[in-house]
Amino acid sequence: MSKVVLPKTMEGKTILVAGAAGFVPSTLCEFYLKQGAHVIGIDNFITGSRSNIDLLSAYKKFEFHQYNIYEKLPNFKDQKIDYILSMASPASPIDFAIIPIEIMRVNSEGTLKLLELAREKNARFLEASTSEVYGDPEIHPQREDYVGHVNPIGPRSCYDESKRFAEAMTMSFYHKYNVDTRIVRIFNTYGPRMRANDGRVIPNFITQAMKGEDLTVYGDGSQTRSYCYSTDLVNAIHYVLMSSDPTPFNIGNPDEYTVKETAELVIKILGSTSKICYLPLPKDDPKRRRPDITKIQTYSDYKPLVTFEDGIRQTAEYFRSIL
Ligand code: UDP
Repeated sequence: MSKVVLPKTMEGKTILVAGAAGFVPSTLCEFYLKQGAHVIGIDNFITGSRSNIDLLSAYKKFEFHQYNIYEKLPNFKDQKIDYILSMASPASPIDFAIIPIEIMRVNSEGTLKLLELAREKNARFLEASTSEVYGDPEIHPQREDYVGHVNPIGPRSCYDESKRFAEAMTMSFYHKYNVDTRIVRIFNTYGPRMRANDGRVIPNFITQAMKGEDLTVYGDGSQTRSYCYSTDLVNAIHYVLMSSDPTPFNIGNPDEYTVKETAELVIKILGSTSKICYLPLPKDDPKRRRPDITKIQTYSDYKPLVTFEDGIRQTAEYFRSIL
C-alpha cells in the first residue's frame, strides 16, 4: 500500500456514525462536519451524552436519529451513504458489569446490521475495535499481528470477545461480499466530552484532583497504559478510513505511564493538594499496554501532537465547565 493521501474536503460525502453521542464519535462527527460532510448520527444514549449531540446540532449538515442499532436502523431507503462508522459500543470497564448483554448485542447484531447496510449502499465501513482484543497481552508493545490473550469468561469478556467477533464479522463481509472495510484498534483515549463519571482512569483522576479527593489507584499502580488525546485519535481514524488496507491498524499514542505515575502527573499538572490511595486491582486488569504504531506511521503521516500535560489541562477545563 502506498502512503495515504487525505482528501482536501469531505464536501458532498455522507458519513453515518453509530454511537455519535460518545466522546470519540462525537469529536469525529465534528471533525467531518468541519470538513463539509453531511453527518448522520445514531445513538440510544445508553452511555452517550445528550450534550454531545446538542453540540453537533449547531451544524446544518448534522442529522440525528435516536435508535438502538441492534434492534433496528432508521430507514435510509433513498439516502446515499459513503461511509459507515461502527462506534456504538459502551467501552468503560464499569459498564461491563452493568450492561454486558447490551454490549455483546451491539457489537454482534448491531455491527451485523451496519455491515448489511454498507453492503446495500456500497459504502466503506469502519469498525472501531479496541486494544482489548489483545486481552492481558504477553507481548509488549502490542503489534497488529499479535492474536491476543483473552479470558473468554472473565469480567471483561463481554467487551473483548464481542469486539473480536465484530472484527471477525467485518473481515467475513470483506472476504465474502467484497465490502470495503477498515478496522482500527483503539488504545486508551481521553479528552473533553468524556463522562465525568465514566469510571475510567483519566476522568476519575481529574475529577478527584479537582475536588481535592484522594486519587484511587487500583492495585499497586505498576500496571501501564498509553493515553491518546481525542483529537489525535480522530486524525488516526481519518487516515485509516482513507487508506486501502482492510486489516487492523493500532491507533493511539505510544507514550506509556504506570497508573501510579499517571496519578502523580495529574496531581502535578492540576496543582492539586490531593493524595493517592490504593484500592484492590480489578480481576483481569491488563498489566501492560502500549500500541506499536509502526504500521499506521508507515502508511501515513500520523503523529500524536497533544502532550499529556496539555491534554490533561484541556480535559480538566471541560470537566470544570460541566460540573
Ligand atoms: N484505574 C485506577 N483507578 C481508577 C480507574 C482506573 O487505578 O480510578 C486503573 C485500572 O485498574 C487500569 C487503568 O487504570 O489498570 C486503566 O483503566 P481504565 O478503566 O481507564 O481502562 P482500561 O485500560 O483498563 O480498559
